[in-house]
Amino acid sequence: MRGRGRVPGRKSNLGSQKGKVNDERQRTEVVASTELMEGRSVVGWAARDPSGLLSPYHFSLRETGPEEVLFKILFCGIDHTDLHQCRNQIHSANYPLVPGHEVVGEVVEVGSEVKKFKVGDIVGVGIIGCCGNCLSCKSNMEQYCNKRILTYNDTYKDGTPTQGGFSSAMVAHQNFVLRIPEKLAPEQAVPLLCAGVTAFSPLKPFSDCGADVFLVSSNEAEMQRATSSLDYILDTIPAVHPMEPYLSLLKVDGKIILVGAVAKPQQFSSLDLILGKKTICGSLIGSIGETQELLDFWAEKGLKSMIEVVKMDYVNKAFERMECNDVRYRFVLDIASSDL
Ligand SMILES: [Zn+2]
Ligand SMILES: [Zn+2]
Repeated sequence: MRGRGRVPGRKSNLGSQKGKVNDERQRTEVVASTELMEGRSVVGWAARDPSGLLSPYHFSLRETGPEEVLFKILFCGIDHTDLHQCRNQIHSANYPLVPGHEVVGEVVEVGSEVKKFKVGDIVGVGIIGCCGNCLSCKSNMEQYCNKRILTYNDTYKDGTPTQGGFSSAMVAHQNFVLRIPEKLAPEQAVPLLCAGVTAFSPLKPFSDCGADVFLVSSNEAEMQRATSSLDYILDTIPAVHPMEPYLSLLKVDGKIILVGAVAKPQQFSSLDLILGKKTICGSLIGSIGETQELLDFWAEKGLKSMIEVVKMDYVNKAFERMECNDVRYRFVLDIASSDL
């Protein structure tokens, strides 16, 4: 908050209560963002080394650009990828690393060119940038852009490290900000932003197949009976696992779609594919458009996400429990009411 003719007495709304945010709404929207943001400090919980243990970490947010939105984080989901990243098991971790890529918050400031959002809106964020010019970007599949910018453990266009949603606030370009429908509770929207859309995007082409049988892979007799019966399998397992039992379940021309990031190479026998014209492929989250479509669909149908809401000081324990499958089915951090 030094120099550059800032408005006297002006403060960021980051620590404000909701009422105060509303009181200041009008002023927040008209004051040029460059006058507000220098030295804007926030608190996140960061991993410092491959132990992956998280602890409080102070860092600065960039200025809110003309097309950007600043939001106070309310809730953030805990994904297995967060654990992998904190432990330096996929990509190379840039410590201190604040994870979290299923982020829901309340807008506290908008840039002068932002038309889609206003202060007080409940919004969500997954990936936060792409080049805008490549074939993927131009065909609304920006998640496959080679220059996509991930929520954290990545570098923003201004050269600063990106930090995720296990923190008090975030700035994002309006094109990567999602509208959380009013009918949907913010914490309910959280798992849709990665886990939900990761399933939704690759399954859309199969949406008329239907699904009415539940198969437990640890039950050998059931698995045997289901041989050559499936059109596709969405494989969400985030650890090395044998492919053969699953490939054998597919019909001719069937597909396994991998969506769980595995830290080590997976193996399969080419004969298992060749003899049934089978495919193993991958899929990454979904596009911004698909994510919005899923959020709206969820709200319209009144669907529920199965979540366990915990406070930030429980996060290391939550990682531990997630690792031994002791959560049904998603941990959601209640950031706004945690003491960061
Ligand atoms: Zn691109
Ligand atoms: Zn994820």
